[in-house]
Amino acid sequence: MSFPCTTPKQDEIISKPLADIFVSDLSTISEQGKSIKEFDGILTVRRKNQEGIPMHVRVVPVACIGSAPTHLIFNFDIPGGQMDFIATLPQPKEAPRGSLHSVRRCSFDVRSIASDGLRRTSLAKLTSLPLEAPITKIINLLSQVQENCSADEARLIDKVLEFLKREGLYSPQMKEIRTDDPIATDLIGALLTGPSVYSSRRSSNDSIIRTGTSTRTASIVPAKMKANPIIMELLEESLSWDFDIFKLEEITDYHPLLYLGMEMFRRFDVFATLNIDENVCKAWLAVIEAHYHKSNTYHNSTHAADVMQATGAFITQLSNRDMMVMDRMEEATALIAAAAHDVDHPGRSSAFLCNSNNPLAILYNDLTVLESHHAAITFKLTLGDDKINIFKNLDKETYKSARSTIIDMILATEMTRHFEHLAKFVSVFGGEEPREMSQSEEETSILMRRMLIKVADVSNPARPMQYCIEWARRIAEEYFMQTDEEKQRHLPIVMPMFDRATCSIPKSQIGFIEYIIQDMMHAWESFIDMPQLITYMQINYSQWKKYDEQGVNTLADIMAKQPPVGNKLTNSK
Ligand code: AMP
Ligand code: ZN
Repeated sequence: MSFPCTTPKQDEIISKPLADIFVSDLSTISEQGKSIKEFDGILTVRRKNQEGIPMHVRVVPVACIGSAPTHLIFNFDIPGGQMDFIATLPQPKEAPRGSLHSVRRCSFDVRSIASDGLRRTSLAKLTSLPLEAPITKIINLLSQVQENCSADEARLIDKVLEFLKREGLYSPQMKEIRTDDPIATDLIGALLTGPSVYSSRRSSNDSIIRTGTSTRTASIVPAKMKANPIIMELLEESLSWDFDIFKLEEITDYHPLLYLGMEMFRRFDVFATLNIDENVCKAWLAVIEAHYHKSNTYHNSTHAADVMQATGAFITQLSNRDMMVMDRMEEATALIAAAAHDVDHPGRSSAFLCNSNNPLAILYNDLTVLESHHAAITFKLTLGDDKINIFKNLDKETYKSARSTIIDMILATEMTRHFEHLAKFVSVFGGEEPREMSQSEEETSILMRRMLIKVADVSNPARPMQYCIEWARRIAEEYFMQTDEEKQRHLPIVMPMFDRATCSIPKSQIGFIEYIIQDMMHAWESFIDMPQLITYMQINYSQWKKYDEQGVNTLADIMAKQPPVGNKLTNSK
C-alpha cells in the first residue's frame, strides 16, 4: 500500500503511540477524560521531517455491545479517497480501557481496512442491527450509567458487567461447603453437578443394565377403588400440610397415587377442565402408579402422591390469596406433572445411569437423563392407549400448551439446575411484596410453576417431624442401595459417604437443609405465605442437630429413636 506524500505512511504509524503520530491534543476524542467518543474533525498529524499536517479524521471507537472500547478506527480523508486504520487500545492491566490515558498510549497495529468506504458502511450497519438480547440492553444501560459516575462506582459497575457477560449466569454457584463436612459435599455435589464429573472415574467393567422402561399399559387393570370409609376420612385432610401420606400408603395397599390423585382431580375440577370422563383419569392414575417402582424405597408412588399432595396444598394457598396466579388448566397440568414427575424412576441417580452406560443415558446423551425419561414416558403411556388418554378431548392448541407446561415442570425438578430456577424466581418474586401478575406474564407464571413443583418435590424437610424423618430414611436407603451396587459392579461411587456402614443420616440432612432447602423454602414461603413450612423446617433442622450431637447416626440408630411411619421400608437391609 502506498500513500500520497502528504499522508502518513504505514511505517510511520505501526506500533507508535498515538501521541507520537498526532500533534493535536487527543483529549478531543475523550469526553471528560473518561470515555472515548466518536470524533469527526481536523487533527494535525506529525510527519517525518515536516511540520504537522492538518487532516480530516474520523475516529470511531469499537466495542462489543456494552463493553469498553477495545479498538479505534481512524478514517483519514486523503486525496482521491479515504484511508482507514485500526488502533488497538491497551488491555485493562495496562491502562483502563477507553480512558484518555489509554488513548494516548494506544498504538496503531495498522490493519489497514479497505478504503472504499464500503467497509465503513457495513460496520455502521453492523452496529445498527436489531440483534439486541434483553441482557444486552441491561449491559448498555449500565454502561451509560458508568459514563457519569465516580471512579469507584465505575469499578463496581465493571464488576457487575463482568458477571453479566459470563455464561451460565444462573448456573449453580454452590455456597462454599465446609471442608469438614464430607457428607454434605458428597450429597450436594451429586445433586447439583452434571454427569461429566463422574466420567473420569468410570470403571472399566461397566455393563448395561436395564431399568424398567417397558410400557405395560395393556397388562394394567386399574385397581378397583374401594369406597373405604377410612380412606375417605383420611382424604378429607388431603389439602392439609400435615397430611399423613404414609397412612394413605398403608391403607390403600400401596396405591396412594390412585386415591390421592382422584381426590385432587375431583377437588380441582380436573375432569371438567380436561373434558374427560372420571374413569379415564382413574385408569391414567393407575397406569402411572404402576410404572413407579415399588422396590424403590424413596422414588415410588408414595413420593409421587406426596408431591401431588404438596402441589394441591400450594395451589389452594395461592388461590386463597388475592392474587390470581393459576387458571384451572394450569392447576390441572401442575397436578398431572406432580403425579408423573418421577414415573419409572429406577431408584438410581442420573449420574449412576451415565456411569453405567444405561440405555437411558445413551438415549439422552447424559443430559437431564431421568427427568427427560419421566416426561417422555408420561406422554408415551398417555397417548399410547385411548383408555387412559386424559388429553384426548383437548383441542390441538390447548393440548400443545398443556404438554409444554407438563414437560417444563417435570424438567424443572432436575436438581442440577436448582440454583438457576431459584435465582430466576427470586429475581422476579423476591421483593417485599410479590409482584402482581397478569395473564400475559407467561414467563413469570412459568417461573412460579417451576418453583411450585420444585418445592413440592423436596418439601420433605419442611413436613412434620415424623414424616421428615421417614423420608430421610427412605432416601438414605435408596442412596445406600446405589452405593452397594456401585461397589458390587466396580462402578464409580457417586456418593461415597452414603455407605450404610458409615453414613451419618443427621449430617446428610443438615447439609441438605443448609445448602439446598433453606434459601428455597424462605423464598417460596415469602411468596406463598405458609409459615408452617419454615416452622417445620426449623424444628427438623434442630432435631437433626440434636441427633448429630447425640451420635445417632445410622439408619438403625434412627429407627431405634423413631420407628418407621406407615409401612416398613421396602428392601431395607
Ligand atoms: P426427584 O428425584 O425429582 O425427587 O428430585 C429430588 C432430589 O432431591 C432427588 O435426587 C432426591 O434424592 C433428593 N432429595 C429429596 N429429599 C432429600 C432428603 N431429605 N435428603 C437428601 N436428598 C433428598
Ligand atoms: Zn421427585
